[in-house]
Amino acid sequence: MADATFDAIIIGAGHNGMALGTYLARCGWEVAIFEKRLEEGGGLCTEELTRPGFLHNVHCNYHTLVGVCPVYEDLRLEEHGLEYVRPPVQMGSVFGDGTALTVHTDMEKTYASMARFSQKDAETFRRLYNEVKGYMDLILRTLMYSPPIPLLDITKALVVWKVADKAEFLSVHLRNMSINQFLDQHFESEKVKVQLALQAAYSGYSTDRVGLAVSYPLLVGKMDNWHVCVGGSHQLAHALWEAFAHAGGQVFLSTPVEGILTENGRSTGVRLYNGSEVAARHLVASSIDLEQTFFKMVGRERLSEDFVGGIEAYPCMDWSFFSAHLALDRVPEYRAAEFDPDINQAWVLNVGYESLEDLNGHWRAIREGKLPDPCPNCAVNSIFDPADAPDGFYTGLIRHFAPYRLASGGAEAWDEMGTIFGQRCIDRWVEEAPNLREGILEWAVYTPLDIPRRIPNMVEGDWMGGLIDLGNMLTDRPFPAMSQYRTPIEGLYMCGATQHPHGFVTFAPAYNALQVIADDYDLERWWL
Ligand SMILES: Cc1cc2nc3c(=O)[nH]c(=O)nc-3n(C[C@H](O)[C@H](O)[C@H](O)COP(=O)(O)OP(=O)(O)OC[C@H]3O[C@@H](n4cnc5c(N)ncnc54)[C@H](O)[C@@H]3O)c2cc1C
Repeated sequence: MADATFDAIIIGAGHNGMALGTYLARCGWEVAIFEKRLEEGGGLCTEELTRPGFLHNVHCNYHTLVGVCPVYEDLRLEEHGLEYVRPPVQMGSVFGDGTALTVHTDMEKTYASMARFSQKDAETFRRLYNEVKGYMDLILRTLMYSPPIPLLDITKALVVWKVADKAEFLSVHLRNMSINQFLDQHFESEKVKVQLALQAAYSGYSTDRVGLAVSYPLLVGKMDNWHVCVGGSHQLAHALWEAFAHAGGQVFLSTPVEGILTENGRSTGVRLYNGSEVAARHLVASSIDLEQTFFKMVGRERLSEDFVGGIEAYPCMDWSFFSAHLALDRVPEYRAAEFDPDINQAWVLNVGYESLEDLNGHWRAIREGKLPDPCPNCAVNSIFDPADAPDGFYTGLIRHFAPYRLASGGAEAWDEMGTIFGQRCIDRWVEEAPNLREGILEWAVYTPLDIPRRIPNMVEGDWMGGLIDLGNMLTDRPFPAMSQYRTPIEGLYMCGATQHPHGFVTFAPAYNALQVIADDYDLERWWL
């Protein structure tokens, strides 16, 4: 006899689990979400890592799909207190020769900034951006916010609709190219190219991976859509929690799931850490990793050899993030502001990359487990959201691509190396913004090893739920037998970052799992 019964049980209260739970609760289902941590939100955690009152976004800092993703409106998250700011100067790069490039929400200003490096590149970028904007909504809706279709079908459609003839940039050949190759083909200034590549890299796309150019147009279309979540990223988790609670759902915190109960090949509920059992009338949905879900919770013995092989072969991201969080008493003033004053207003700032070759060198080093000479990615959210630090103070964030396992000492070596690498990143930032030298009150590191310590489903610091690669896309993510959010266990669904499209705060895995569940249970689609 179960200790409690719900219509649906969801494992993990990240944004995907919370969103799926809310949609189902608004269908009239009784929904419970079980979460291992002390708070809901998963990667939306915001913590006072340095000093009280300094709100640091430990994982998700950049919200790139606001206004595009249907979940925000469907769940009326604004009414639940969610607020965003879209900084006018979105991103910038400062270069060794004192120059700077800025990307604005006003694209005319972006073109003007690029034109100072290459008039031809500015014009090419204008054509690329305008072309992408023309088909962006259609592509996002059909490719991201619907269960996936095979790449081959997309390619065929491009040919049948003669898209390649009409479009200058979108082509079937993108699947044979890396993002770097695409940039090399169309642009001439190394500085413009590396800025455009970094825009993709910070979204999880390794720019040297052949095939990933297929996604590049999508990334260009969103490059002026990066938002600060006011009050810290956890406010999105809070709004989701409120929407879920209003719909009658219940989140159980500090309640890890240990097992998935099955009967005659069908999931019937979950077993919690304390041995109690909770029954599910209709379904269980997991928003966490494949290993925990299938090997630990279901049990290998209940799975076919092929399916086990599929999970074992599914690759993690081959790079992770190193972060340093800073409490500041001033905003950075860049040397390069003499060249472009707007750089002091840039939200996200790249330091040190001068060319695609610099970036490629980092990809190579990281895959070998080495720490390169720092080229930090820096952001000060408080310029746009004063609520995230005490009056007159600022929070700072440094991110750097990094290996999970260091060649010397493995992952554990991060506990020693973190502070050393953090100091090197800070020194590099200060070189470009010398006023920061006296302005850092305190700082804390957050290494790739810390990531799975905090969020166990981010296995080996994998912040994307599995490698982003052509072989892992669409109906191949995580592998064909499980690409449609269903699993070999009837009534067990996957709704998190392992599924199409991938991790990041997109809500897409949950939204797409919802469509499949709505078909399977004949739910009335109130959200369409
Ligand atoms: C350093 C870093 C920086 C990032 N920056 C960004 C960014 O700027 N923008 C962006 O969009 N994304 C960013 N991400 C990625 C983003 O955080 C993830 O892709 C996103 O959180 C995935 O959401 P999810 O809901 O699928 O899973 P998660 O957010 O991982 O949530 C899963 C939840 O399940 C819980 N759980 C795990 N095991 C169990 C269990 N056995 N029982 C119960 N609960 C369990 C976890 O505690 C967690 O709360 C970043 C990630 C990292 C690590």
